[in-house]
Amino acid sequence: MFLRADLNVPMQDGTITDHNRIDALIPTLDGLLQRGARVVVATHLGRPRGHDANLSTAIVARALEQRIQRPVMHVHEVPFEPDSIEAFSSIPSGGVLMLENLRFDPGEKNNDLDFATALLEPVQYYVNDAFGCCHRAHASIVAAASLRPAFAGLLIEREVEILARLRDHPARPFWVIAGGAKVRDKIGVLAHLSDRLDGIIFGGGLAITILQGRGVPVGASRTEPDALGEVEDRLANGPELVLPVDFIAGDDPNAPSTISRVSVGDQPPEGTMFFDIGPDSIDLFRQKIATAATIFWNGPLGVFETAAFAEGTEAIARMLAQHSAEVVIGGGDSAAAARSLGIADDVAHVSTGGGAALEFLEGRTLPGLEALEHSTGTDPR
Ligand code: ADP
Ligand code: MG
Repeated sequence: MFLRADLNVPMQDGTITDHNRIDALIPTLDGLLQRGARVVVATHLGRPRGHDANLSTAIVARALEQRIQRPVMHVHEVPFEPDSIEAFSSIPSGGVLMLENLRFDPGEKNNDLDFATALLEPVQYYVNDAFGCCHRAHASIVAAASLRPAFAGLLIEREVEILARLRDHPARPFWVIAGGAKVRDKIGVLAHLSDRLDGIIFGGGLAITILQGRGVPVGASRTEPDALGEVEDRLANGPELVLPVDFIAGDDPNAPSTISRVSVGDQPPEGTMFFDIGPDSIDLFRQKIATAATIFWNGPLGVFETAAFAEGTEAIARMLAQHSAEVVIGGGDSAAAARSLGIADDVAHVSTGGGAALEFLEGRTLPGLEALEHSTGTDPR
């Protein structure tokens, strides 16, 4: 069994700082092992250019070993060399082998069929549980699925079920909270959902960009005015649009020496930028989403990495943790915020796919999911 996982865990100074992606794989891996499978686990890690010892998956193999309480054999190569194929065939049923970082080989990103063939050499079946990678047409995601009977893991099944409901028939009223920095990335999602949406709450760079377009002074804040025409056009006559009524301004996002509250319409102090929503905005947002039945949150409301600008994001997170609506959180930084604030278990779902979840909600076909649908294999279970 070949299991493509998304174990691209965040690391600092050679240690894993967040084990969430490893934990998310356990149900699928356990299920396969309990059925007596021998499993090759493969993932990419970071963005290596060629072979890079600092991005070896050996550390991930050790972390996985601790989580599943069974030995995980790690080979320092990708794809297989003849010795490792022999080693794999000699591990007992229920054994696990982890390959080296898939992206050490250029064949991975090139969706190279020969590379995929070599990856699958010792196995009979292919399972993909790397939802966060399904928007990439890479060899271990697309080409590999065409070579063996291919199946989705439990994580992908759950992501698709929840995100498809959100996209196609959400319980109404349906509200989106849209913040973060990447304005252009969010527009497509909002536009695609707009006729099923009852309202959008804007924070972060998205809110500041829209307000600037309406002539509101935003000081030195960074905005993406080019994306603006699209925002307004695509959302006109659609859902209710709710913008902040006040902001917290500062001179530096990481180490501010001045901080002030600025009502929308007032001039921010010279040289400052809006780094968070203000208290009146938090109150307004709370009232607006009180009656929602479904809420999708993507994009922090401010620079939550800095304590002075985290209040908006924290307040919204607390609000969502107590809300009776079906709450889904998507986006890499939003999911990280939800976990670091300890609310991940209090909402219906925190997506493990950043870009993949957004592309799915935008109505795009994800190459990795398409490849699984087109597999003609028979179910190994
Ligand atoms: P996600 O990964 O959840 O989709 P983004 O990548 O779009 O979200 O944005 C996350 C980043 O946006 C965070 O690092 C946060 O600091 C930044 N951010 C949020 N609000 C602001 C703001 N007002 N000014 C500058 N950066 C902001
Ligand atoms: Mg991000």
